Amino acid sequence: MKCPICGKEMQDGGIVVDGVAPMWVPKEQFDRKGLKRIIYREGRSIGKTNIILGQTKISGAFFCRECNKVIGIFDVTNNID
Ligand SMILES: [Zn+2]
Repeated sequence: MKCPICGKEMQDGGIVVDGVAPMWVPKEQFDRKGLKRIIYREGRSIGKTNIILGQTKISGAFFCRECNKVIGIFDVTNNID
């Protein structure tokens, strides 16, 4: 995949999360402060969690050496609602 910022070829890879699975939430919910941030609606889980290892693996993460950024195209696996 080409980097959308500089146009160079990106390195394919993945993200590994130790612990609970990460979740995508809409921007207005992501930006909440204080106690309101505890409750999220319309969240989407990403990655595959292995409970025994306590680890979540997320494929579709591309790294650009030039920009030093990771850009992701992530499948969402379920609807939290
Ligand atoms: Zn780049």
